Amino acid sequence: MAVVTASEKTTNLYCPSLTAYKRRETITINIGDLPMGSDYPIRVQSMTTVDTMDTQGSIDEVIRMVDSGCEYVRITAPSVKEAQNLENIRNGLRKLGINVPLIADIHFTPNAAELAARIVEKVRINPGNYADRKRFEVIDYTDASYAAELERIREKFIPLVRICKEYGTAMRIGTNHGSLSDRILSRYGDTPLGMVESALEFLRICEEFNYFNIALSMKSSNTQVMVEAYRLLVQRLDEEGLKPYPLHLGVTEAGEAEDGRIKSAVGIGTLLEDGLGDTVRVSLTEAPEKEAPVARALIQRYVNRTPHDFIEPVESCPINPFQYTRRDTREVYNFGHLNVPRVIADYSNIEVTQLENLKSIGHFFLPVPDKWAMNDQGADFIYSGKNPIPFMLPNGLREILDFEQWQQHENAANKFPLFEAEQWLETDKTLVSTQLNFIKGTIHSLNDALLENVREATNIVLLIHTDNAHAMPELRRFFYKLVEKGIKIPVVVQREYATDSGDELTLYSATDVGGLLVDGFGDGVLLQPSFPMHINHTDKLKVAASFNSIAFGILQAARTRMSKTEYISCPSCGRTLFDLQETTAMIRKHTEHLKGVKIGIMGCIVNGPGEMADADYGYVGMGKDKIALYRGQEVIKRSVTAAKAVEELIGLIREDGRWIEPDEREILV
Ligand code: SF4
Repeated sequence: MAVVTASEKTTNLYCPSLTAYKRRETITINIGDLPMGSDYPIRVQSMTTVDTMDTQGSIDEVIRMVDSGCEYVRITAPSVKEAQNLENIRNGLRKLGINVPLIADIHFTPNAAELAARIVEKVRINPGNYADRKRFEVIDYTDASYAAELERIREKFIPLVRICKEYGTAMRIGTNHGSLSDRILSRYGDTPLGMVESALEFLRICEEFNYFNIALSMKSSNTQVMVEAYRLLVQRLDEEGLKPYPLHLGVTEAGEAEDGRIKSAVGIGTLLEDGLGDTVRVSLTEAPEKEAPVARALIQRYVNRTPHDFIEPVESCPINPFQYTRRDTREVYNFGHLNVPRVIADYSNIEVTQLENLKSIGHFFLPVPDKWAMNDQGADFIYSGKNPIPFMLPNGLREILDFEQWQQHENAANKFPLFEAEQWLETDKTLVSTQLNFIKGTIHSLNDALLENVREATNIVLLIHTDNAHAMPELRRFFYKLVEKGIKIPVVVQREYATDSGDELTLYSATDVGGLLVDGFGDGVLLQPSFPMHINHTDKLKVAASFNSIAFGILQAARTRMSKTEYISCPSCGRTLFDLQETTAMIRKHTEHLKGVKIGIMGCIVNGPGEMADADYGYVGMGKDKIALYRGQEVIKRSVTAAKAVEELIGLIREDGRWIEPDEREILV
């Protein structure tokens, strides 16, 4: 049967407003004594990593998580034995006066779910594997065989629904992109629509039994797919007249450190901007108590989001929000059309005196052999403003100067002017660059008159910025306008952030810029630091390096420009068979120069292969000191000892012709 596409089945409304911040109205569900839904604050949750059979270890970890701000705690229950032990963990916590609601995480084991639902406040099931075993077979189901499969699901699932109803236990129907059943894949393909339908099959059964204490999730490690799936879910619930259930937001296997935070924010932040999401789990390959503060920082941004400056409303979304398509633009110099989004580094407040000042943005001068080199995160442009760079720039780097300074510059090769919107309109066009001019403004100054003036230009790139607290939607409104008017000029997104805001800088810039990129908007990014008063030159260069890394990280997380290896590493849980943080660090050390290669690092073979989704290679725990190595979804080697596994993984990459020696590729800082 042909794959059904999202656009065939949907209209394009998916949130209360695309321009005014408003949370989507949901029903309230009760999870222990902490309700969830739009009448309540967005909740923070996380998951333990210790073995569920380690009662005291689990209790200690839950306490650390609660202390870090976690409001619900999920614990894996791979079999009946662990499900039973949830009772000991729960009792231990209650004795200490800790009433945090517990959630049992279930894959493949209905009997564990049925037991856990009698013990804890909520169960999470994965509709991709609750009643289906994954065989990675594409079977062409007839309508009759498909209906027979649904009947089989009903039989397995109805007992759990009855128990949850009887015990007042909540449920999350949590679809994972990487673990869709063969049945769903055969009909809908590996698509957001397949993810949504996977959950709806289970949800319809719940509603039939008048059981509504349900949250829904649509997770993926691919941020584009994740955002599209949540939007489509909301739209389909409305269309089908199902209840507006609360949403649990998460990006699976986001990874660690800066990359993990950026990826989480691109996915989760984008949805929060549209008022979607009632609980957040940030999934990092770090200690579980590190996750809640990140989730809290993401959520906190919306507490005082209203009132915000007015943004002209839209009646319908002028793009298909359920399927990624990059905005159609014409090529201007090396912006737009098929070019990757460009990174512009802001040095307008950093004095450049020596060649090595450009090292922070990936350009290195090598005295021997007396030439420039760059790594995969070499900025494409440097904005020097009123302070021209006093030496010849490397080949891969071009300079942007304010128009007055550009005019005065003797050698204009690889240098381009920046105009304010009004300044552009007033300037004699014989004085501008024939190749590339940047016009900077807001949605108000880059107005209809200016857009009509530049509509057909082949030498203009716009730079859009905003002061609106509801920033991403205002910037997005500008892109909508360009789409509506059929204007194909490339646009760079410019945002300014304080340098001392820690995780917030990473999370907020990833939300603001990533939220546009996942909709196909943005042909470049300019992140500008707003420096505190007394910051020295060395620290400014460090900030430049950090902003550059974040800019490339956002482009990578939104899957619009791959500049480094992508690690899809699971956050670990009670099933994990090796130290994930240590192993990830070790694999990263050997492979981080393999630009664009996606490596899955998964703690167990039960869920790992499914969850690593579209990784090119997989390193998956299959037993004590036993690793399985995957190429895509295919197991290539089994039972490799940990001591040999990285070497074997490299061998696999080498066999495919994708291995390169680190020093051939780049110069590391
Ligand atoms: S893949 Fe990782 S997080 Fe998922 S069940 Fe296995 S060990 Fe746990």
